Amino acid sequence: MNKITPQPGIMDIALYQGGASHVQGVQNVIKLSSNENPFGPSPKAIEAVRDSAATLHRYPSTDHASLRAAIGEVHGLDPERIICGVGSDEVLQFIVQCFAGPGDEVIHTEHGFSMYPILARAAGAIPVSVPERERRVDVDAILAACGERTRVVFLTNPGNPTSTMLPEAEVARLADGVPGHVILVLDAAYAEYVDGFDGGAGIVDGRENVVMTRTFSKIYGLGGMRVGWGYGPRAIIDVLNRVRQPFNLSSTALAAAKAAVLDREFVEFCRAENARLRSWLAGGLEAAGVYSDPSNTNFILARFGSREEAEACDLFLQSRGVIVRRVAGYGFPEALRITVGDADGCTRVVEAVRAFREDAG
Ligand SMILES: *Cc1c(COP(=O)(O)O)cnc(C)c1O
Repeated sequence: MNKITPQPGIMDIALYQGGASHVQGVQNVIKLSSNENPFGPSPKAIEAVRDSAATLHRYPSTDHASLRAAIGEVHGLDPERIICGVGSDEVLQFIVQCFAGPGDEVIHTEHGFSMYPILARAAGAIPVSVPERERRVDVDAILAACGERTRVVFLTNPGNPTSTMLPEAEVARLADGVPGHVILVLDAAYAEYVDGFDGGAGIVDGRENVVMTRTFSKIYGLGGMRVGWGYGPRAIIDVLNRVRQPFNLSSTALAAAKAAVLDREFVEFCRAENARLRSWLAGGLEAAGVYSDPSNTNFILARFGSREEAEACDLFLQSRGVIVRRVAGYGFPEALRITVGDADGCTRVVEAVRAFREDAG
């Protein structure tokens, strides 16, 4: 008998499915399956990556002071209350690892990010899925699910893959309503796509139990670099820093992220282009009879009449080299999540969906 046994929960983890990037036998594919920025990273971030190469024999900063100062300056936040991680995924992992263990419950919503149950199980905790209402987070349902064993509540706002958003007053009601022993995590990976939105930083302030997470993987176009950050009460950030490896971020990653966050012009350009192309894309799909909720993100959740139709359309798109995301695993078998690409990408999607719908008669 094998005596090598993993910790409880680990063998219950189903491997994370990333967005596909190839179609067998099809040239000129466009990847719209992972909500990546079609404009790439800021030219300033690319330059910073190049510049960092000459000093790669040195270990990186352990406290990320320079990056935290830049983030703090841009967002008007206290750098002492910021922690940086290998993607926001790592910050989410720190939170679960530090505050939940075997027998504890970690709440996420029905259509929430699939990393949450993975992180809960990795800590031996129990993921608890709470229903949403018509693709919108239901605060009362979350509050009703909170109990003695609840340790963490994950809220993605705006949501992925729903693209809908919970209004600030509702987030505040949730923050005030969860029991005192529960940490509310506001995962604001798409915050920059919402004009004037602080990602929930204002809700973090003045409360002891709320943490906001942000990422460089979406509007900053640095998904390949793996940098994210969290903002929370000093006491919680202090706990998280104890499990963080001292050199979790490479000097290249730190330099790229700092240059990216300081390039506000590029972020503004990406936000404006995304908003413009997103309404064009949603309008084009609607004209072809495919509906979506008004999106607050860089993707839309395109709803079809049935699972069969969504899957057939996905295959048709693939045959034309357009890769989007199936979201049956998120509770939407009849929908496809489509990242807003550049003008060419959006045109290819609309033309392909229109051709598919005409074919289907
Ligand atoms: C993309 C995404 C993230 C970002 O993850 P990183 O580890 O920072 O790349 C986090 N949460 C949600 C809901 C996302 O969609």
